[in-house]
Amino acid sequence: MTSSDVSAPPEEAGTGQAEAVRLDRVVHRYGLGGESFTAVGPVDLTVPAGEFLVLVGASGCGKSTLLRLVAGFERPTRGSVRVHGAEPRPGAGAGVVFQTPRLFPWRTVRGNIDLALRYAGVERARRPERRRELLDRVGLAGVEGRRVWEISGGQRQRVAIARALAAENPLLLLDEPFAALDALTRERLQEDVRQVAARTGRTTVFVTHSAEEAVFLGSRIIVLTRSPGTVALDLPVPLPRAGVGAEDLRNSAEFAELRARVSHAVKAAAA
Ligand code: ADP
Ligand code: MG
Repeated sequence: MTSSDVSAPPEEAGTGQAEAVRLDRVVHRYGLGGESFTAVGPVDLTVPAGEFLVLVGASGCGKSTLLRLVAGFERPTRGSVRVHGAEPRPGAGAGVVFQTPRLFPWRTVRGNIDLALRYAGVERARRPERRRELLDRVGLAGVEGRRVWEISGGQRQRVAIARALAAENPLLLLDEPFAALDALTRERLQEDVRQVAARTGRTTVFVTHSAEEAVFLGSRIIVLTRSPGTVALDLPVPLPRAGVGAEDLRNSAEFAELRARVSHAVKAAAA
């Protein structure tokens, strides 16, 4: 055993669970000097590998800023952000899904996925099989020949999710991906994302302003205060991750209780 083994941080040595994301005293400011505005922080947060973390809070509290820091699109003004132990670089360590899918509208569904697989470095010969797997997983088999402008908003968001999964990153980041969809489509996609996360075991950070969505998806929920966003509540979600139908889960007393608790915390934190 080397000396570095002995000095491993106790939380890592103790649980044996790898850390996917770690934020230490993170503060983020926009603008310069007297015009500057603190959007986030200070925030300390550790996300173990495999966790489905939901960040919830009122509009403007800094959720997207936090997610962009984890994606490496922004550097923190103070503190440090680590993804699997390293400084995050855009496009490298995480698949990202935005509220409005950023697809190539004139390309087919197949073309959008293939492009993602190419960027992800998947060999040309392996792409058709991987594409079929991804399309199956997000429920798009059958529309792969359509152009993006010919499919529905829900289907577009499915393409965006498939694309984010294409790179086989261990980390998936989603920023209010279902906010613009109708209620029925939103519920279906929530069910699919929950299953995809459970099946792939990927670490997921999901941003929403909906307490309902947070409780349905999360294995852990962080409620943020109004800006500058800080952690107001850190809540484990003890609901079963598999083996219970979505409808039964949504209708359960435990679900209702948690939703009420999160909803109350979001309102209190925003006041
Ligand atoms: P949320 O996603 O929770 O709605 P954001 O992270 O988008 O919040 O924004 C947090 C705060 O930072 C808001 O007050 C917003 O106006 C401000 N903000 C976000 N992006 C920028 C930017 N690029 N420049 C200046 N202010 C910004
Ligand atoms: Mg946002």
